[in-house]
Amino acid sequence: MWDVPKWKTLILDYLFGKAPGIDMKVINNRLVRYDGTPVKYVQTPNTSGVIVPKYLVIHYGANSSKDNLVKTLTSKIAKVSAQLVIGRDGEVVELADLNAKCWHAGQSEWKNLKGMNAYTIGIELDNYGRLIKTADGGWITYFGKKVDPSEVIVAKHKLGGPMSGWHTYTEAQLDSLEEVGLALFDHYKLEDVLGHEDIAPGRKSDPGPAFPMVSFRSKMHGRESEDGLT
Ligand SMILES: [Zn+2]
Repeated sequence: MWDVPKWKTLILDYLFGKAPGIDMKVINNRLVRYDGTPVKYVQTPNTSGVIVPKYLVIHYGANSSKDNLVKTLTSKIAKVSAQLVIGRDGEVVELADLNAKCWHAGQSEWKNLKGMNAYTIGIELDNYGRLIKTADGGWITYFGKKVDPSEVIVAKHKLGGPMSGWHTYTEAQLDSLEEVGLALFDHYKLEDVLGHEDIAPGRKSDPGPAFPMVSFRSKMHGRESEDGLT
């Protein structure tokens, strides 16, 4: 027998062409799929205490791969972490309870709050971030990997600086992020979604101009984006 949430997901899949099985909810501060199976979990040692999340913070990982990003965020020596990682294939990996204080924001502030790790859930998206132009007009990462031009946008950061190349996010990744974000907003009654660049301006540029913050924020607040149902 199928339970009601599965029916709901299948109907939504049919109407909107979504991949099945990414409809998420939060149970005991862990992300769970509609059928009750938890998302992949790799515990990070880099947490300190419990928080009441008020905001979602979006990052790019600026790492060479999802697996290396997870490795860094679970390394005792690196002393960094986030509650969630989302790969370019859309896979979601949880690294800590969603109400554990993770170490992703660093020195940061928003409105009257300082030290945003204490108030936020951090999501690290597998993405190279800012790219470097080569002599032949191509693009490479800061660690020298060539990036296909189809995965690059050229833009100025909203906080200033020169025109630059930025690694694009994938559709599968943004679809997963939307499902995750909606589950988090619903469960924790989050106030808003912020970029790392918003809470640490001048120091951080992520998630940068390639991230569709305006439409993502609209979706999290239950508003349709300007271009209709998407
Ligand atoms: Zn960041």
